[in-house]
Amino acid sequence: MRLLLVEDDNLLASGLAAALRQSGYAVDWASRGDQADRWLSSEDYDLVLLDLGLPGLDGAEVLCRLRNRKTPTPVLVLSARETIDERVRTLDLGADDYLVKPVELAELEARIRVLLRRGRADTGPTIELGALQLDTVGRRVYMNGEPQDFSSREWQVLNILVSRVGRIVSKDQMLQSLFGWEEGVTLNAIEKAISRLRAKLETGGVNIRTVRGLGYMLEKPGKPDVRDD
Ligand code: CA
Repeated sequence: MRLLLVEDDNLLASGLAAALRQSGYAVDWASRGDQADRWLSSEDYDLVLLDLGLPGLDGAEVLCRLRNRKTPTPVLVLSARETIDERVRTLDLGADDYLVKPVELAELEARIRVLLRRGRADTGPTIELGALQLDTVGRRVYMNGEPQDFSSREWQVLNILVSRVGRIVSKDQMLQSLFGWEEGVTLNAIEKAISRLRAKLETGGVNIRTVRGLGYMLEKPGKPDVRDD
């Protein structure tokens, strides 16, 4: 999962980015509104954490431009502006949630999880795919109820595949989602993680298909139909 953090307070931003990376998110950090606007026009993010008072371009304007481009990426506003009017105005501009600074990390992460799972059909914190269960809060993987040993890279790759189950994920998309999470992620590392994942998942009848020249697809267990959203 790749997040864009837009925050001009360096100390706060580096603390948040470090904590979120620790939790397994890939985090890009923009310290200016105009920079965030450029990145949001060209890059794919799963979620945006947006400050309002920013140099270059105000956070509200960044949000307006994003929504004018019809980009549905969830936006969680983090702001010190705590009046009801400000919150209402920001939500009406197309923000999905609003947290007043200072934010508690545990609450921020819980709200991030809520927004990230909104796009999925199953909305609970546990994702089930055949014999496979992912506990997205505890970051644990179970197969037929048995806890499995997954490295943090395997967890990341599995999460990307699961969030797009039944759809093809290109190696480039995978690299993008992992970028920032760890220095020097290469295609080769992704291929290795995929082959380890395959071995672990096949006992539960969960298949990662290689679509030659295009990428990978986690097949929906027992459902051959391909989701097209
Ligand atoms: Ca600010």
